Amino acid sequence: MPRVPISFEFYPPKTEEQRAQLDKTAARLKPRRPEYVSCTFGAGGSTLSYTPETVGHLHRAHGFDAAPHLSCVGGTRAELAELLRRYRAMGCRRIVALRGDLPSGMGHTGDFRYASELVEFIRREHDGHFHIEVGCYPECHPQADDALADLRHFKAKVDAGADGAITQYFYNADAYFRFVDDARRLGVAVPIVPGIMPIANFTQLRRFSETCGAEIPRWIGKRMQAFGDDAGAIREFAADLVANLCQRLIDGGAPALHFYTLNLSRPTLAVLARLD
Ligand code: FAD
Repeated sequence: MPRVPISFEFYPPKTEEQRAQLDKTAARLKPRRPEYVSCTFGAGGSTLSYTPETVGHLHRAHGFDAAPHLSCVGGTRAELAELLRRYRAMGCRRIVALRGDLPSGMGHTGDFRYASELVEFIRREHDGHFHIEVGCYPECHPQADDALADLRHFKAKVDAGADGAITQYFYNADAYFRFVDDARRLGVAVPIVPGIMPIANFTQLRRFSETCGAEIPRWIGKRMQAFGDDAGAIREFAADLVANLCQRLIDGGAPALHFYTLNLSRPTLAVLARLD
């Protein structure tokens, strides 16, 4: 086991097949004793109920301390207040508060513009009831004017009442260490937990990384390419690579690790096995 607490992130399943997949993954990851698990939130409309249902299920069926993500873009004050009341009634004590991303073409429609306003709202409505995590970006959020502005906006979320932060995933440990140093210099004292993306499907990962502000170093892409169709070699390389990253982060003082599982157990377990 790594020397630090771990947590796992899932997304809410929408079909029976996806539900079964999540149950299988949750059962396989449970022996790793995560401090908590979290469940992502899709902005708007019919997706509103998936996250609370999944959070309830992860708690009841698997015994996890389950934390909902809550994103404010596209949501009204009344909708968010209702969700918060529901989570509180379900016994949730931890929330991951985000701005979220609307599908392209949809303008800003919600009552809140930035995650800092959502954090402020949660604190105002529920005082100290929820432990609030926010997102942050060691390689800079793609819409930020520059890295320093982004860092100041991160600080604004902490000043608004966030208790901790989880980073966007990255494969360059120095970006994380530098970001933490800069945040500390600015007066941010809360734990900054690296978000870890085990590599399951490299093509998909590369596509996703282009939009979310995470860089895949060129040498990693080149090595992946060189493996061609050798799925076994790719899996081994990917697990070694991410485990080495985790070890460097732990050795360098990371307070915990948060794994983006994409509802798959194998890539995360392969990394954890190497950290044992
Ligand atoms: P914010 O902190 O509001 O920042 C967004 C942008 O606005 C940044 O560029 C920031 O620099 C800028 N900004 C902030 N405040 C100001 C200001 N006052 N003036 C000008 N600019 C400002 N997305 C989902 O839809 N659902 C999820 O469940 C989800 N989970 C995530 C979990 C983690 C750990 C992370 C890191 C991200 C997650 N995301 C999720 C993605 C996230 O919603 C996007 O990255 C989104 O684009 C930004 O969200 P944020 O909360 O960081 O936004």
